[in-house]
Amino acid sequence: MPFYDLTCKNNHEQIDVLLKLGERPPCPICGEATSTLWRASSNVITDDIPGGLEIRHGICNEDGTPRKYYSKSEIVKEAKRKGYSVGTDVPYKPPKNTLYFT
Ligand SMILES: [Zn+2]
Repeated sequence: MPFYDLTCKNNHEQIDVLLKLGERPPCPICGEATSTLWRASSNVITDDIPGGLEIRHGICNEDGTPRKYYSKSEIVKEAKRKGYSVGTDVPYKPPKNTLYFT
């Protein structure tokens, strides 16, 4: 289950969207088609998430409320702690658009 960066033709960017392989949802802001960029070398990208990333499912808070993450490594760490593997071949299939960006 790789993370993707998505961008649409209006340059709305979503960073580190968790998608099924080949899945390419439309831009949540303008609805245009998005292109995905698979980054194999994410360590060259900054770990910070400006403004934070709110996650409402999967690795949200224990009580189900949205949780904000401010770094990608924090998300990866929490995902691993909760039993999600970060990479490919994940048995868990989240609903579409699992990650929301605010
Ligand atoms: Zn857009």
